[in-house]
Amino acid sequence: MNIPQLKTWVEIPEKSDFTIYNLPYGIYKIGENQPAVGVAIGEDVLQLDQLWSLGLLAELDIEESVFLSAYLNDYIALGKPVWSGLRKRLQELLCDEAIQDVVEKALVKMDQVKMLMPVKVGDYTDFYSSIEHATNVGKMFRDPENALLPNWKHLPVAYHGRASSIVVSGTDITRPKGQKMPPGAEKPVFGPSSRMDFELEMAFVIGKETELGTSISTKKAEDHIFGMVIFNDWSARDIQKWEYVPLGPFLGKNFASSISPWIVTMEALEPFRTNGPEQEPEVLPYLKYEGNKNYDINLEVYLQPESGKENLICQSNFGYLYWNMCQQLAHHTINGCNVNVGDMMASGTISGKGENEFGSMLELSWGGKNPIQLDGENTRTFLEDNDTVIMRGFAENGEIRVGFGEVRGKLLPAKP
Ligand code: CA
Repeated sequence: MNIPQLKTWVEIPEKSDFTIYNLPYGIYKIGENQPAVGVAIGEDVLQLDQLWSLGLLAELDIEESVFLSAYLNDYIALGKPVWSGLRKRLQELLCDEAIQDVVEKALVKMDQVKMLMPVKVGDYTDFYSSIEHATNVGKMFRDPENALLPNWKHLPVAYHGRASSIVVSGTDITRPKGQKMPPGAEKPVFGPSSRMDFELEMAFVIGKETELGTSISTKKAEDHIFGMVIFNDWSARDIQKWEYVPLGPFLGKNFASSISPWIVTMEALEPFRTNGPEQEPEVLPYLKYEGNKNYDINLEVYLQPESGKENLICQSNFGYLYWNMCQQLAHHTINGCNVNVGDMMASGTISGKGENEFGSMLELSWGGKNPIQLDGENTRTFLEDNDTVIMRGFAENGEIRVGFGEVRGKLLPAKP
């Protein structure tokens, strides 16, 4: 795909995630000012509320309140033509040196702002769409010979998660307590989880609502997707293992999930489309799709012990996923379930085939059997108190780079 070359007057550090081709949206706050909509560019935030006040967005006919909002939902609801129009306008403003002096007034350094939750999430669904992850977990939790359950290749398996506990990057996470069944024990015990884990995922944000009783086809699905974030689905494996039969994840998952603060739009990700894995057996007609529906996005996980260094412990890629977002959305709505602007759909843990590509500690340490070597003398099977988990993601094709920044979270000790 040929992308028109753009040259911005904003200074963009080399390897910056936030190039002129990206322009992701977030909600920022300066001191005690009210939250507002911003766009990341280099090391700056372009304050859209300020641009509006300067009269630079007048031709787009968007109300000021849309940019002076604590969430992006109102902006997202304006629809795809508005998203495209604003993106084009922002690229003009950031490239035209003749108006640099004016536009510069709307820039603020990233380290001067606090990033907040970008959207009000109404509903959250977590898929389970990585065949490598599902196979690894199946081998450990169930049967090494028949790791995948019979439905797995016929439908994108998912469960409904908890929207209230989705938090933005930088939020501390408290080690959860709950019921666990220790190996060989006769009855469950209660206490802090001793098998705390992360899950490397990405999530997409719904950009267009549907009516109850209607469905979204794989062909139309992209019209309903606004953009994506990196998603850490914190997991308490011991709680999960005891509770998940027969209805699935509950308290082992719903205490927290963390997201990166900048929503990267699908338009920015367009140059990174790639084909997905071959699906065999053939899927039912409503799950068939045409074209490249996966995206080549590099993903990394770092673990940083308290007062230690960041250790790269996993490198994976969003493009590995067996089920793509269009199939997920088609399946989610095939029964008439409606979706709303701001709903979040997470991918499920994104693992690759290689042992350094496993997207959870459960897999990296193979159920706690093989400790992960960190810098110095530190090893880990699961997370320890005050460990920080950092996930980063970026797409790159030689000419341009579009990145997500990071999602980070520190695991605090359980409450007494
Ligand atoms: Ca998950």
